[in-house]
This record gives sequence, structure tokens and C-alpha cells, in this order.
Amino acid sequence: RVKGKWATTRPKHLPTRLALQHFDATYSVQLGQLWPSVRVALLSERKYGALFNNFSNNPDLEKLQAQGCGDFISNGEDPTSSEHNSEFGAEEDSSSVSTVSSHVDRQQQSPLWLSPNIKCLVFPRGDITRFKPARPDKFNLLSYYLMDAASVLPCLALGVQKNHTVLDLCAAPGGKALALLQTQSVRFLCVNDSSVSRTSRLKRVLHSYIPKPLLTDDKLRITSFDGTMWGEIERNSFDRVLVDVPCTTDRHSLMEDDNNIFSRSRVGERRSLPQLQVELLLAGIIAACPGGEILYSTCTLSLNQNQGVVERAIQLAEENHGIQLQVVSLRPLVKKFRNTFHFAPDLHLGEMVIPHLAANFGPIYLCKLRRLT
Ligand code: SAM
Repeated sequence: RVKGKWATTRPKHLPTRLALQHFDATYSVQLGQLWPSVRVALLSERKYGALFNNFSNNPDLEKLQAQGCGDFISNGEDPTSSEHNSEFGAEEDSSSVSTVSSHVDRQQQSPLWLSPNIKCLVFPRGDITRFKPARPDKFNLLSYYLMDAASVLPCLALGVQKNHTVLDLCAAPGGKALALLQTQSVRFLCVNDSSVSRTSRLKRVLHSYIPKPLLTDDKLRITSFDGTMWGEIERNSFDRVLVDVPCTTDRHSLMEDDNNIFSRSRVGERRSLPQLQVELLLAGIIAACPGGEILYSTCTLSLNQNQGVVERAIQLAEENHGIQLQVVSLRPLVKKFRNTFHFAPDLHLGEMVIPHLAANFGPIYLCKLRRLT
């Protein structure tokens, strides 16, 4: 048998192939019958959303709407309908939130505040039209930012309200920071990313979308610290903290051999991800003020990097820092946006958008915590 030339030159252990083997082994157990369809979606072209830039004067919104695009947020199911009345509200009712001590209780229904100013356009279910690159307006500000539409959910779920101070602990390249700024409610935003090169990219992104007067030192701070050390910098301080951690980035790991966390040289780094994620979440918890809220998010389906990390961080916060936390249910968010995204059923902690061929967004895992003390 004559072997093709590729067989001798092609590396035996391509990271993308190793990633698929790893996911087949773990996710077939974790997701059961759902895995084959999630697998097909993960291996297919992803779908984007266009985060609309309220600060740009561009007619692109109307053009996209004429093409059939719609804002999935304002088009979400009506939260005031009788079915959802008890779950949504402008004011929060802490009595309907589950309490966590050394173990995680079942999540209960809770009201949720969603900013009316975040808009994200998507093509309808099953429509895989691609967005054109955004164009600058006469002030050189771009009209929209292309990102996985499910990545907007952590920003919405964070529930930023008027005059809040917000920390985005792992912020680069900046899609979620942009979404947070779209709320126009943030009094002070602190964006941090330990990678200096990615922080430079984050600065470029912010300057391409946000007018200069909103990027002054009294409104925005950009830093490049190791987020795990944040507790040594600032404690008990922020109203809202977003902890969007580095993870196995499942989609990227299946598609790109370059810079792939499943490459053999990065095995140690990959195995230590859950520990790093716990340290980052714990730092975010410590940075939030008592009563403040923390949103943990990843773009992996991995139980160890999602629920496992949240459980461990809650335990360490209480044992080592005397901080009591509540898990805030995101069921209302799931109900509102179930026509746009496929959500994993019955997670005992947090919610997860799972990829689906008709709505190929995610994976995005999100879990919201509130500091009681
Ligand atoms: N939130 C970003 C967005 O929406 O564009 C994406 C964040 S990405 C999932 C995770 C980021 O964590 C990477 O940019 C990475 O450089 C950063 N990171 C990794 N280790 C970190 C650490 N110890 N402290 C702070 N940031 C870290």
C-alpha cells in the first residue's frame, strides 16, 4: 500500500485532533445523548452577532434590519407576560435567591435586571448569512462589534445599574467590556488582562468604538496585572465584577492548530486551568463589595472548568475569607432568550448555551454570585 505524502509529513498528534478525542471522551459522558448534535455544531461554522455601538452614527442598523437581522435582546420573550411576571422585576428581591454555605443549594427563581441599552443583532434561526465588517462613521467609530452573540449574555446577566463601579478582570480583547459600556450606566470601569499584547488590542478596540470623553482616567482604568493577585490591590470595592476566565476555548481548540491549548507542549497549562480559574474567581469575589455581584463565565462545556470551579471558589471564599455568597438563578434569562439560544437542560449551578446547527452560538457557561458579607 502506497501512503500519501501527507501521511509522512503531517504531525501525528495534531492539537485539534487531540482536542476532539478529549471532548469525545469527556462530553459524551457529561452531555449523553446531546453530545452528537453538539459535536456536529462545534465542528461547523459558528454564528456571530453584531453588538450594536450606540456611540456610532452609522446607518448600518437599518441596513442590517432590512437584511432580516433582529436585536435578539429586545425581541426576547416578554418578561412581563403572566408566565414570567414573578421572575422579572426592576427591583431585586433577595428572598428568592438560593443561599450557599459549604455546599451549593438548588438554584431558585430570581428577578433579573437587564440593561435596555445593549443591542445585539443576529440573523434568524437557520440563517447562516455572514456579517460584513463594520464601517467607521465620520468620527472614526465603528458601528458594530462582531462576537458570539451568546457572549453578550454574561454582560446582560451582570445587571449593571446606574452609577455602578465595574471590574472586568480578564478583559481582552474587549468584546464584553464594550457591551458593558453600551449600558451607559457604568460610573467607573476597570479593565484588566494579564497579557500585555492582548491589553494593547483591548485599548485599540475601546478607541475604535467609544468616544474619547468616555475613556478618561476618571471613568476608565486599563491595567495588565495578574488577576489572581487582585485581592492585594483592591478589596470589597466593586458593585459588579466580570470574571471571564481563560479556558479550553472548545470551538477554537477544534478548529485551529496554532496556539492550541491541546498541543503537547501545553499539557501542564491545560491541566492547571481549573486551579487558575478558581483563583481568578476568588479574586473577583474578594474585589466585589458586600452586596455586590460577580459573574463567572467561560466558553467551554467542561464541568471541571464550570460548575466545579464555582463550587470550589464558593467554598474557599467562605473558609479562607469568611465571605458568604448566594447563587443567583439565571432561569429568567434562559426563558427570555430560549428562542435564540439552546441552553443545556438541568444544570445544578449556572446556565450554559450549547451549540446547535440551527443556532450555532456558544458554548458559553455563566454563573452569577452575590456577596452576602
Ligand atoms: N472578556 C474577554 C472578551 O470578552 O473579549 C475575553 C477574555 S478571554 C476568555 C480570557 C483572558 O484572560 C485572556 O485575554 C487572557 O490573556 C486573560 N488571562 C489569562 N490569565 C490571566 C490572569 N492570571 N489574570 C488576568 N487575565 C488573565
